[in-house]
Amino acid sequence: MNAKDTTVTTRPVTRQTFDEVLVPTYAPAAMVPVRGSGLDLWDQNGKHYLDFTSGIAVNSLGHCNPIVVEALTRQANTLWHLGNGYTNEPVLRLGLALTEATFADRAFFCNSGAEANEAALKLARKYAHAKFGPHKSRIVSCLQSFHGRTLFTVSVGGQSKYTEGFEPLPPSIDHIAYNDIEAARASITDDVCAVIVEPLQGEGGVVPGDKAYLQALRDLCDQTGAVLIFDEVQCGMGRTGDLFHYMTYGITPDVLTSAKALGNGYPVAAMLTTHELAATLGVGSHGTTYGGNPLAATVALTVLETINQPEFLARVKQAGDKLRGTMEKLIADYPQVFTLVRGAGLLLGMVVTDAWKGRSKDIQKAAEVNGLMVLIAGMDVLRLAPALIVSDEQIAEADRILRVSIDGLLKA
Ligand SMILES: *Cc1c(COP(=O)(O)O)cnc(C)c1O
Repeated sequence: MNAKDTTVTTRPVTRQTFDEVLVPTYAPAAMVPVRGSGLDLWDQNGKHYLDFTSGIAVNSLGHCNPIVVEALTRQANTLWHLGNGYTNEPVLRLGLALTEATFADRAFFCNSGAEANEAALKLARKYAHAKFGPHKSRIVSCLQSFHGRTLFTVSVGGQSKYTEGFEPLPPSIDHIAYNDIEAARASITDDVCAVIVEPLQGEGGVVPGDKAYLQALRDLCDQTGAVLIFDEVQCGMGRTGDLFHYMTYGITPDVLTSAKALGNGYPVAAMLTTHELAATLGVGSHGTTYGGNPLAATVALTVLETINQPEFLARVKQAGDKLRGTMEKLIADYPQVFTLVRGAGLLLGMVVTDAWKGRSKDIQKAAEVNGLMVLIAGMDVLRLAPALIVSDEQIAEADRILRVSIDGLLKA
C-alpha cells in the first residue's frame, strides 16, 4: 500500500520522519515526547522523564497546567483572531497587567523573542534618528549574547557561529565583552542608539550580569542618550524569583523584552517601554498579524497573574536555593567533573572542569537515558531550568539521576 493512501493523522510517525521531511535546523533527541503533565513527560514508548528543561525556560507552570488549559479552552470557544484593525479585551487586560506590574507604560505584542528584540532595536533606531539625527545608529551588544535568529537579531547577538554564511549582515553593530565596564565605556559613545543586554546570559553559558556592570550601562546610556534594552526573554517572568530580573538589580531599562515563559508554550512575546519611546512607533510604523491576538493574550494574562504573586515568587526563590545547594553538594562529590554552579533562581548552569571540556552533551544524553531531561548552554555548561512549580522531591530525584548518570560516565 502506498503511504500516501493513508491519512497522516493516523499514520505512524517516528524520529526518523524528522530526518525525512523537516528542514534539518535541529538535531532533536532520539525519543519523541507525546504527553506531559507538570514536570512529567512520556515518550512514544511510554517511558517517563522528569523534565528539568521546561522547553528551554518556557513551560514555567509545567506541562498542560490546568489553569492555563482552562483559560485557553475558554478563549478558544469565544474568539480566536481579529487582525490589527480591531483590538480585543484580552490584549487590553494584558497590556494593563504588564504595565502595572513593571516600569513600563506601554506594551507591543508579537510572537517570539526574536520579534520582541527586533521591535526593540527598530524602536531604538527610529527614536534616535528622530531625536538626534541619522548619525546616531550604532548598536552595542555583548559577546556570547543571544537575541534571536532573524537576520537583525542574530547579527546583534554575540556568537559569530550563528551568522556565518548569512552575510552581508546589517552594519553598525559592535560587540563588547560581557561584564567588562572599561569596554563599555570605550564603546558607548554619542553615535550609539541602543545598548542591548541580557541581565543574565542564558544561551551564552548561564552567566550572571554584575550589578556594577549593568549600572554602568545604565549610566552610559543616560549620558549618551542611547536606549538601554534588557533582553529578559529567558531570565524574566519569574525565573529568577522576581517577576523580571531588572527588579532584582534595581536597575531599570528603557525597553524590556519578554517571550518564552510569557506564554508557557503558547507563542507570545512582548516589548515593554515608556510613553516617550513608544510614541516613536506611530500608526503603520511596525506590526505583525498575530501580535496580541485573543488566544495568546488570554494565555499570557493567565500566566502573568499566576506567577506575579508574592507567595509564588517566594517559592521560586526557595526552590532555587534548594536546587543550588543540592548542586553544590553534587559538585563537591564530583570535583573531577564540575567546577561550579552559577546563575539565579531556577536558571542554573553547572560548569565542567577542563578535563570534561566539550562534554556537557554527554552528561545530558546520559541523564536522558536515566529519565531526566536537562539542557546545555554551550559544550561546557549543563543548564537546569525546571518549571517554577518544581517540588523539593523532584529536585532530590533530579540529583539522584544526575549522580547515577555521572557514575555511569565515569565508569565507561
Ligand atoms: C530564546 C531567546 C531569544 C529568542 O527567542 P525566540 O522566541 O526563540 O525567538 C532571545 N533572547 C534570549 C535571551 C533568549 O533566550
